[in-house]
Amino acid sequence: MKKVIITGVTGQDGSHMADYLLANDDIDIVAGVRRLSVKNHENIKHLVDNPRFKLIDLDVTDQANVDRVILEEKPDYFINFAANSFVGVSWDMPENHMKTNCMAVLYQLEAIRKHCPWCRYYNAGSSEEFGDVVTTPQDETHPLRPRSPYGASKAAARHLVKVWRESYGLYAIQGWLFNHEGTRRGEEFLTRKVTKAVARIVKEIRDGKEVKPLEIGNLDSKRDWSDAEDFVAGIWLMLNQEKPKEYVLASGETYTIREFVESAFGFAGFNPDECYWEGEGTNSKYYHCDQLLVKINPKYYRPAEVNLLLGDPSLAEEEMGWVRKTDFYGLVKKMVDNDINML
Ligand code: NDP
Repeated sequence: MKKVIITGVTGQDGSHMADYLLANDDIDIVAGVRRLSVKNHENIKHLVDNPRFKLIDLDVTDQANVDRVILEEKPDYFINFAANSFVGVSWDMPENHMKTNCMAVLYQLEAIRKHCPWCRYYNAGSSEEFGDVVTTPQDETHPLRPRSPYGASKAAARHLVKVWRESYGLYAIQGWLFNHEGTRRGEEFLTRKVTKAVARIVKEIRDGKEVKPLEIGNLDSKRDWSDAEDFVAGIWLMLNQEKPKEYVLASGETYTIREFVESAFGFAGFNPDECYWEGEGTNSKYYHCDQLLVKINPKYYRPAEVNLLLGDPSLAEEEMGWVRKTDFYGLVKKMVDNDINML
């Protein structure tokens, strides 16, 4: 049996990775969670009785804790999904982003170097490292030009991973992940915020209650969205190459937030022929017949918007045989169906 430590297992990617690996008989999972006053184990509650899934206390910002866990467990793989992952808040808490997304990576690399240098290490990189892009689409050769404290923390971690890989011969990599979403996405993230709001509005209309419109930011921002379940499969491929090599995982397509919103209401049963936009910019409003569904709140605009982030996944597809199973519309439908079913 191979032993895999996963951090950030209560989050979207960590929980999907645990599911993905447990479907493989030869893997035992050690799942790191940080202690919180109120547990948030919703995404892993179906795993806690699985004998191949062990929960341990692991706060990645605590170096002694990280060192002890790696010394005691001596894993074959270490997959780091723990992060402060919300770009928008990174201007408010930049130090926390640097500690959680960058210094924590240093603690992990150093402990692996000392206690189990055979361990294969993955840290979750981000398209936000490209930030102020100079070419589109972005591939593995694009320079790092972050535009947010979050992007800067991930770019700094990337350099550490490279230095530890090259200096100590570790199998340590940080693949670039473009946006990926799903039914376990945190509710503060745009896609989930939209699909939760769509489900709520469906219920409000069904119950004859007053409809509270969804409030969002820049409708014309474009994103490259994929399904998180496709990404964990790609990350596992990346960890199992002959030699350590970093790849971009992306859909290679972009859609606007406006298109995401329209699709989400469409999959919830709102007839697109009866839906329409009125106004422009911050005055844009989306209606179904006379019912206001969406309006703009400028507080959701970012202080510095990234330019078009569009990933080029062709290297991952050609060299690793990575295949995406879910397209944009499949993703939106899956999220809307899930949130309506949860009502
Ligand atoms: P989530 O926000 O869903 O999960 C983050 C996880 O990190 C949570 O389990 C959280 O635990 C944990 N965590 C935060 N701080 C600590 C800490 N100090 N010690 C231990 N655990 C901690 O993120 P995703 O699953 O979406 O993303 C996974 C990784 O991929 C992150 O590194 C993210 O930055 C990166 N990424 C994600 C993208 C996306 O589109 N989803 C795009 C590009 C990169 P708790 O539940 O206790 O808060």
